[in-house]
Amino acid sequence: NAAPLGHNVIPIVNKLQDIFAQLGSSSTIELPQVAVVGSQSSGKSSVLEALVGRDFLPRGSDICTRRPLVLQLLQTKRKPDGTDEEYGEFLHVPGKRFYNFNEIRNEIQAETDREAGGNKGVSDKQIRLKIFSPNVLDITLVDLPGITKVPVGDQPSDIEARYRTIGVITKLDIMDRGTDARNFLLGKVIPLRLGYVGVVNRSQEDIMLNRTIKDALMAEEKFFRSRPVYSELADRCGVPQLAKKLNQILVQHIKTVLPGLKTRISAALVSVAKEHASYGEITESKAGMGALLLNILSKYSEAFSSMIEGKNEEMSTS
Ligand code: GDP
Ligand code: MG
Repeated sequence: NAAPLGHNVIPIVNKLQDIFAQLGSSSTIELPQVAVVGSQSSGKSSVLEALVGRDFLPRGSDICTRRPLVLQLLQTKRKPDGTDEEYGEFLHVPGKRFYNFNEIRNEIQAETDREAGGNKGVSDKQIRLKIFSPNVLDITLVDLPGITKVPVGDQPSDIEARYRTIGVITKLDIMDRGTDARNFLLGKVIPLRLGYVGVVNRSQEDIMLNRTIKDALMAEEKFFRSRPVYSELADRCGVPQLAKKLNQILVQHIKTVLPGLKTRISAALVSVAKEHASYGEITESKAGMGALLLNILSKYSEAFSSMIEGKNEEMSTS
């Protein structure tokens, strides 16, 4: 029953993230999210596209992510006639639905260039993209630029990462003949509390031949079914399992942090309300605003006069 749970909390956190993202980095409220890290060409973009089920990320040999891409996947109801309505929306293009996924790719590219410059610049300002589709599970992911290595090893400094990391092993189809990733998937090589999922995405040749992601997902299923070593690890194999796992972990995590989050937001609200009240009564009507302004001005002029007359030490011009 993972899907119905996701419908409650993930959209709430998405909304909060949108609001705080617009406020900029001044916000001190930390929200839960899933970040995608891995070395270049390890298959991060391929995994993201497979989770969405569509091609939509900029590609090219030297195009790596140059701005964080926050990808919010939101499951919609399938239409009664069976046609899937899938579209994207960018926070920076309010009100526009992108039904054409090539246009989404172009917009990511254009928006990256707008902020980070056309020439390999990197910026930490997020691009926020929502994908609405009946074919996705609710997951929010962040594709980060500039991370070139996954922290693994025995240093104590990576302990935190180990307890928060979900391992994704890509390219299982091009392992040397006679070898398999069984021990990796079982966590015997690098143990991770949240475990591993193995996937097979499109090869460069598949991409050049315009093979669709839907096709690739079917091929992936066939790949795992046809190999006895993986068929007994079925819950750790394939993009659909990865989507399920990410959704469950994110929902569980949000549920854990939600009470504390609520307390922090309420406290922030109280302090803002206090500051707001200190500006005096705010009215909607023109007459009311005029009166308020007059009141502020006359208070100011009183204070100013008394300062000129030397009666008010507190109000100095320095
Ligand atoms: P990123 O730099 O981490 O975003 O990596 P990409 O997703 O762009 O993938 C880099 C290259 O590896 C591309 O040519 C992909 O087609 C290829 N690739 C990714 N995943 C797989 C996989 O599971 N199997 C195979 N054969 N190729 C893959
Ligand atoms: Mg990439």
